[in-house]
Amino acid sequence: MTPTTTHAHTNGRVFLDAALELVWPTRCSGCERPGVLLCEECRSSLKRIAGAHACPRCGAPFGRLVCTECYSSEGREQHQFEACVCAMELDELSGRVIVLYKDSYERRLSSVLADYLLSALPAPWLGWADVLTWIPVDRKALRRRGFDHMEMIVQDLAERTGLRAQRLLDKQPTRDQRGLTRSERYENLQESFRLHDTAHALPQHILLIDDVLTTGATLDAASSRLKEGGAVEVRVACVARAW
Ligand SMILES: [Zn+2]
Ligand SMILES: [Zn+2]
Repeated sequence: MTPTTTHAHTNGRVFLDAALELVWPTRCSGCERPGVLLCEECRSSLKRIAGAHACPRCGAPFGRLVCTECYSSEGREQHQFEACVCAMELDELSGRVIVLYKDSYERRLSSVLADYLLSALPAPWLGWADVLTWIPVDRKALRRRGFDHMEMIVQDLAERTGLRAQRLLDKQPTRDQRGLTRSERYENLQESFRLHDTAHALPQHILLIDDVLTTGATLDAASSRLKEGGAVEVRVACVARAW
């Protein structure tokens, strides 16, 4: 690319940003204050989860050891993934930021959320992971939103970490879960995931990214599919943890 084109490209971009700013001014995704995507006040109100004080298995805050939720009364492990970190607690504020990103086409929030994920990742995980992947949206959600919101965050995260981002899963819309027993619901969820490309064995160490962890059922279903495809260990990182 010649310097002239770069310059023209930059000018075009600047012009486009200025035009967009006129029609659709930037507002804080937390409190609507004009001028920034996420203001300092909202940033400091987000309830960050400190890794040192969270359950290493499910990312729940306030449990330095594996929490009671992670083992059934018989001591059976509850999750299909080996470890989990979450950047913040899910509350009204973090929920609003995530929903705005997903449903209102505020795609610039992708890099803001990628930064939060990066700050939650333990440094050794970066050397451990062979690949970064994500819970993809299904066809219906893709049509509605026009983009795969976690894919964009993972691309941003790949840029920041030097790790490879790769789509490993496809998701079908899940059948209506009402009236199903717990195990039927789990099967239903698991059925909704397929390996994206079955021609190759998967990398052994997979870092799986999602937006919100609630019960972990979706991440369990996805993790067990990844293991069927050859993954040995799956670790999870989510933006927010419902608690
Ligand atoms: Zn704000
Ligand atoms: Zn736990």
